[in-house]
Amino acid sequence: MTDEMIPVHEKDAMPFECSSKNSCFNECCRDLNQALTPYDILRMKKNLEISSQVFLKNYTSLHYGPESGLPIVTFKPNPGTGHECPFVTPKGCSVYEDRPGSCRLYPLARAIARDRETGEIDEYFALIEEPHCKGFGKKTDLTIRQWMDGQEVALHNHHNDKLMELISLKNKILPGKLEGAQSDQFYLALYDQNEFRARIFDHDLLSGFGLPNSVFKSIKTDDEALMDFGIAWVKNMLFGIELDIT
Ligand code: SF4
Ligand code: SF4
Repeated sequence: MTDEMIPVHEKDAMPFECSSKNSCFNECCRDLNQALTPYDILRMKKNLEISSQVFLKNYTSLHYGPESGLPIVTFKPNPGTGHECPFVTPKGCSVYEDRPGSCRLYPLARAIARDRETGEIDEYFALIEEPHCKGFGKKTDLTIRQWMDGQEVALHNHHNDKLMELISLKNKILPGKLEGAQSDQFYLALYDQNEFRARIFDHDLLSGFGLPNSVFKSIKTDDEALMDFGIAWVKNMLFGIELDIT
């Protein structure tokens, strides 16, 4: 049996219900190919009260897109089993409150496109029916949108969409493989947030940019502001787009 991808609309009924009583419980946490986003890492390192350096070293592997040269961060296998996510336990996910966006959406796939006229983001959804997942065929009273609301994925989508737009800009402006130093800048600014902050405040990474104090004040303590700043910095370093921060 192969995976089936079924396009759905947000107002459609959700024909799926996950339960710890299902015989497949935790099966979905064996996929180590899921790419983690900067916001996923921000949330999990906060949950564990560790730095991004420690999180990345202990729990993730770094790969590079063969065609794009973009860094891709995935989970390292659980050291106890040699496979599956490092946070899966017999009782479920140990970082559940801060689990990644892709874990919240599963088994839903989401794609976006920005409307050229209104600038608004249009969303497209599909259900991925994998043979191991026994949650399909259950009757629920929820629409796809209501089900997503229950997964509290809106904030993840909001931040992850900025990454998607940055990648799409890269593919437009710099098609082909990034050079090693460019990939390193991308990784530093988006994934290794504590090191990025240290380079800014301890090694004057931003000297010469003439940024107002208000920017330094917000990125010193606010991880989400630092992540947004990192995207703007990458656009400047890689594409020459003016660092327009006020
Ligand atoms: S495989 Fe599907 S039904 Fe089973 S635990 Fe995972 S999401 Fe839930
Ligand atoms: S983070 Fe949690 S929900 Fe996601 S794969 Fe790991 S154990 Fe499963």
